[in-house]
Amino acid sequence: MPELPEVETIVRELRPRLKGRRVTAADVLHARIVRHSDIDLRDWLPGARIIDVLRHGKFILLQLDKGWLTVHLGMTGQLRFEAPETVYTRAVLQLDDSSLLYDDIRMFGSIEAGRKRIDQLGPDALARDEWHVRLLRHKAPIKAVLLNQRVVAGIGNIYADEALFRAAIHPATVARRLSKARANKLEQLTRDLLNEAIDFRGSSISDYVDTEGRRGGFQERHQAYGREGKPCVRCASPIEKSFLAQRGTHFCPNCQRR
Ligand SMILES: [Zn+2]
Repeated sequence: MPELPEVETIVRELRPRLKGRRVTAADVLHARIVRHSDIDLRDWLPGARIIDVLRHGKFILLQLDKGWLTVHLGMTGQLRFEAPETVYTRAVLQLDDSSLLYDDIRMFGSIEAGRKRIDQLGPDALARDEWHVRLLRHKAPIKAVLLNQRVVAGIGNIYADEALFRAAIHPATVARRLSKARANKLEQLTRDLLNEAIDFRGSSISDYVDTEGRRGGFQERHQAYGREGKPCVRCASPIEKSFLAQRGTHFCPNCQRR
């Protein structure tokens, strides 16, 4: 699933191409993509001007002169400009100078009018929001708390494992047992990690590609995720994989401490 760095990469590509454009027509080819909305996008979108393209967590936000359009790519959502329709094309936005297609093989993604879902999220992980204080309110394992989008938005399975590795925190550590200093360090290191991943245009593990169909490059730099059995870059112990919060979790049993 695309996480914050992958979605930010897409937003940075969309912004210059969409800002100032007008939607001339909207087509929804599969109704399941439109969720939590009683507004018919085919009627509502035509005529709207796009003021800006923003991101909160893993969500893309189109700021329109008449409100907001919220896009979530789910597991396999992809946005493409001027691309031919495929059997996986779920929606098409016609713009005054181009077209934007939304393809989604597994259809866990969504497009909806408004920004209701954003209001339920915690602060964006890149915001200087002191969000580590929110981690300390939870008694779940820190890995599960990092994945909880209501606590902090944008971190998924890959970057949770990478952030905890960098901070040398065992993923099963009860969040509220962390010292304030360790939690604060985790926040700083997570932000550094996400910014580095954005510089490499994100991580391509399975399906993720940007709006031009290009893969990201950060997967080559992962230190924990996907490295089970390989030597830890710090201490050479084999990286372990276990299941935590229903997700495969990669960590160094030697240098990640509770
Ligand atoms: Zn180690």
